Amino acid sequence: MSRYNVLYLASELYPFAKVGGLADVAGTLPKVLKEQEHDIRVFLPKYKVIRDRKYNLREVIRLRDIEVRLGEQTFVVSVKSGFVPDSKVQAYFLEYKPFFDRADIYIDPKTGTGWEDDALRFALFSKAALETLKVLFWQPDFVHVNDWPGALAPYFLKTVYKDDAFFQNTRSVLTIHNVAYQGAFPAEVAKDVFADGPEFNASHPAWKDGKVNFLKAGIESADLITTVSPTYAKEMISSPELGAGLNVELKARKKQLFGVLNGIDDVIWNPATDPHIAQNYSLEEPEGKAACRADLCAATGLENDPERMIVGMVSRLVEQKGFDLLLEAADQLLELPVSLVILGTGQKEIQDSLLKLAAKNPGRVAVKIDFDDVLAHKIEAGADAFLMPSKYEPCGLNQMYSHRYGTPPIVHATGGLVDTVTAFSAKKGTGNGFLFDTPTAEALVDAVKRASDLFGKKEQWRKLMLNGMAEDWSWSASAKMLIDVYSQVSETAVA
Ligand code: ADP
Repeated sequence: MSRYNVLYLASELYPFAKVGGLADVAGTLPKVLKEQEHDIRVFLPKYKVIRDRKYNLREVIRLRDIEVRLGEQTFVVSVKSGFVPDSKVQAYFLEYKPFFDRADIYIDPKTGTGWEDDALRFALFSKAALETLKVLFWQPDFVHVNDWPGALAPYFLKTVYKDDAFFQNTRSVLTIHNVAYQGAFPAEVAKDVFADGPEFNASHPAWKDGKVNFLKAGIESADLITTVSPTYAKEMISSPELGAGLNVELKARKKQLFGVLNGIDDVIWNPATDPHIAQNYSLEEPEGKAACRADLCAATGLENDPERMIVGMVSRLVEQKGFDLLLEAADQLLELPVSLVILGTGQKEIQDSLLKLAAKNPGRVAVKIDFDDVLAHKIEAGADAFLMPSKYEPCGLNQMYSHRYGTPPIVHATGGLVDTVTAFSAKKGTGNGFLFDTPTAEALVDAVKRASDLFGKKEQWRKLMLNGMAEDWSWSASAKMLIDVYSQVSETAVA
């Protein structure tokens, strides 16, 4: 098998900075590939939350004061070096304080939306990564970028660096974790970002509906595109809704588009060794889950009633995740022997509605508005079932954590949830969760009812739990698939 050199760009990476699933993937996949002896190194912005001391980051003399040109401006950046904890994966941190030394990585607290200069922030991120390679004199086989924040790197490779001998053997890979987030900016930013490229008009790879669209530039430029589950790969080209308006552009790249299911970090998400939960447990000895349930109830104020099925959710509070369905279904759900525990941060309206629901139902509904890694682990371990009513879900990680923790998922059959959740059959004793096909409140209630009925049948429920716990959700199969995909493109000439 070929061994590849890869620079992996991610705008969030666990444990340095995390907002959603991208951080988990970026924190895990490189470790797995490194163990398979690929030389993979990660590149991320040095945000304020990433402390030099905590992660032992070092200055590298060679990587100080690198000049990066964007449009008419030259930015002088530095790159620090460290390692992804518990691994040999080298990590490079792009230091440019005016852009990255801020209170939040994506959201401006003053407006509650993205930072005004996001186009420049992440254009700089992409171009600085390529300039860093030149200073390091390290010529990777692949520059692998994730989502719109890195999507201009493939574009720059195909334009500014097209004739640069340094990159002649470097291919680019774009992984799309969620096509709805595209990095779309007013046309005016084009001159700041692309002045050394072609004119900004409808023939420009980044042009979309009169705006600058970073993800589109990446889709048109990358040698290879992957997304995070086989079903989502099909969905994103199937309709303007699921492709978030980029379905046509993605379809044009169908031959280079692959769905590679995300895996999980099975060291961090392992109930047998998890330091955050009240008692460790495993497939062989699942009994410790009861202590985790009691601990979750104590931590959140839920009543620990053994007759009621505790349904957990850990999620960004955004429309995509189906909170409108949940809120519409809430009264009916609470007629069932069910309690709810919800952890999340996000849109204010969703936060307020959930808090109201909790206030109305003390002991039955617990809501914590926070980003709390420890409580996320406690919910996976202590809840009986896990709910994901997502409208669409590119992959989803929590349902796989839930399998591992013996907390069967109840999901809307979409995207990666289809690839990872199979309906439990009491007759055959097969399956690992519950699905509903249409995203409606009735279908959601029906699925939760099916789950709560089974919860009352202890032997069958135990079988369901153990089915999920016995499965392998690690990166091993998917990492192999990714390398197969890499090898297909590395055998063809760079266009
Ligand atoms: P997405 O990337 O769309 O947010 P995923 O299911 O792929 O969804 O991944 C979400 C990740 O973020 C999971 O690891 C989940 O546990 C974590 N997460 C989301 N919200 C919170 C929160 N409020 N507190 C702790 N962890 C959270």
